[in-house]
Amino acid sequence: MEPRIVIVGCGISGITAAHRLIKAGFNHVRILEATSRSGGRIKTGSLGSTITEIGATYIHGPSEQNPLFCLARDYELLNSDALTPENQAADVEEHPPWVANWFSSSGQRLSAELINPAMEKFYDLVFNLPDVDGEYPYASFGQYVCSKVRQQVAEQDRDESTKKLWLCAINTLLKVQCCDNAAHSMDELDLDGFYTYKNLLGLDCTFPNGFEGLIKKLMAELPADIVTYNKPVRCVHWNNSESPVNTVLVECADGERIAADHVIVTLPLGYLKKHQSTFFSPPLPVHKLDSIHKLGFGTYNKIFVEFESPWWDADCEIIYLVWEDEDLSEQMSNIRQSWIRKLPVFTVQPPSERSSYVLCGWIAGEEAEYMETLPEQEVRRCITALIQKFTVSCLHKTLEKN
Ligand SMILES: Cc1cc2nc3c(=O)[nH]c(=O)nc-3n(C[C@H](O)[C@H](O)[C@H](O)COP(=O)(O)OP(=O)(O)OC[C@H]3O[C@@H](n4cnc5c(N)ncnc54)[C@H](O)[C@@H]3O)c2cc1C
Repeated sequence: MEPRIVIVGCGISGITAAHRLIKAGFNHVRILEATSRSGGRIKTGSLGSTITEIGATYIHGPSEQNPLFCLARDYELLNSDALTPENQAADVEEHPPWVANWFSSSGQRLSAELINPAMEKFYDLVFNLPDVDGEYPYASFGQYVCSKVRQQVAEQDRDESTKKLWLCAINTLLKVQCCDNAAHSMDELDLDGFYTYKNLLGLDCTFPNGFEGLIKKLMAELPADIVTYNKPVRCVHWNNSESPVNTVLVECADGERIAADHVIVTLPLGYLKKHQSTFFSPPLPVHKLDSIHKLGFGTYNKIFVEFESPWWDADCEIIYLVWEDEDLSEQMSNIRQSWIRKLPVFTVQPPSERSSYVLCGWIAGEEAEYMETLPEQEVRRCITALIQKFTVSCLHKTLEKN
């Protein structure tokens, strides 16, 4: 008899697992999905005529070694820039940074000439492994960067106010790193671990018509009835006494028990951490539970805001906000009052029409979790106040401090 395979979760992991199995000739494959949609953390929306990626946005390292890139390319979901051999061979660490507009908390526009030296110092540390013999004398990536940056900035032959501003700008970049790493603070990230992450070749690219297009293409090649939606799984009984030795019973929240010969569980780490003691019966072996326990994850959120007209330059790709009263890696003492300070950056969303002006604000850590509890109206009020504060006295004036 053909093996019966149940896949738990219909995100891209579950979908691609089903895809492989069906292509390899397995016909008894079934996906159980808790929600009413497929795609999980890949979800595309829109604001006006601008596409908004509510979940994943980028293919990181779009080159031949990246299976996601190969799938997107084969389905013709990428634009021609992403497909060029030059783009696929590009090293992200050597590529010039995005075109940025910088604003300060006193409402000034900061020139690129003023800020670029600070940025260069920061990314030099991010991209280059510390030159240390033996064990690193730093507890975390945050500690390492702060200590190095303070030392390097102090050595510069510049006036004190510029040096102070550089440290504030680097503090903004540390907050951006928190978003990139979904961490509350860069002090939480192990220094050694940080540098073991290797970027694949290729400059990050996006899906011009939305990441969810990939889900639709993959789903279209699966049997129409392969997914059962609104079917959360409560427990996987494996090797249990109720069934023949190798049969697994997948128990759903509605009480149905589905027999399978194999189960592929594609649940998010957060779900496994929370439900590990009840989701598997008997519990998973200790080394697997240890991995679930030791792996970390964090929160980062995107906030999309739409404007009637742009207040950033026509070629601007990213907007940084620099708080001039913060020290490096400063922890917020009162998250309720100051959560908005943790939003260091807006990325400019490529418009499909000239009349749509959308920014995506990024926020990570405990402040992001707190923001999730607020009504949308309050978030909108805080974002509006933030932008007004940072742009108040600079509408048509660029501050040249050099
Ligand atoms: C805001 C954000 C931005 C991101 N940006 C990027 C990016 O730019 N590039 C990138 O490569 N990655 C990015 N990621 C990560 C990427 O989205 C995920 O790694 C990927 O989508 C995970 O896919 P998955 O199938 O493993 O898990 P998921 O997509 O989480 O799928 C798991 C599925 O299981 C279902 N499920 C949960 N519990 C149960 C249950 N009890 N029973 C049955 N089903 C259940 C869920 O509803 C879900 O559909 C981002 C993620 C987020 C949240």
